Amino acid sequence: MSEKKIHFKIITPERIVFEDDVDSVTAKGVNGSFGILPEHIPFMSTLDIDTAKAEKDGKEYIFSIIGGAFQFKNNEAIILTEAAECGGDIDTTRAQLAKERAEASLSSAQTQQDIKMANAALTRAMVRLKAASQNNNNV
Ligand code: ATP
Repeated sequence: MSEKKIHFKIITPERIVFEDDVDSVTAKGVNGSFGILPEHIPFMSTLDIDTAKAEKDGKEYIFSIIGGAFQFKNNEAIILTEAAECGGDIDTTRAQLAKERAEASLSSAQTQQDIKMANAALTRAMVRLKAASQNNNNV
């Protein structure tokens, strides 16, 4: 494992969801997944609504990331996003109910806007359920 670390922060309008020195960061950009190790060249990407992962000393940290932007430079990685949760903080009952509500909205949607909003809510709920199920560390 490298001596060098990445200072990784996940920031929402409400709070800092995560801040720590980690060994690697993996996330899903709109053009595909990417992984960052210390000393990577500067990099930016718009983020998909999906999970992200950080590894530190052999431990895996999983997050749900509701879109946003990723920036890496000088061994600092920042995710700026509308909403994010650490895997262990996700209320799976809430996410399951949100998924069911979104599915019901989708089946009764009348307009393209209704479909778009229901699909977005469904994607958020599915990503939260995925992050919760991938989380092994209760972080
Ligand atoms: P819901 O319908 O359950 O509110 P949502 O997709 O509309 O879900 P968001 O608007 O994306 O929720 O998020 C609002 C706030 O609630 C954010 O701070 C987000 O981190 C938090 N949040 C949403 N769903 C969950 C969840 N299942 N567990 C923990 N926090 C959640």
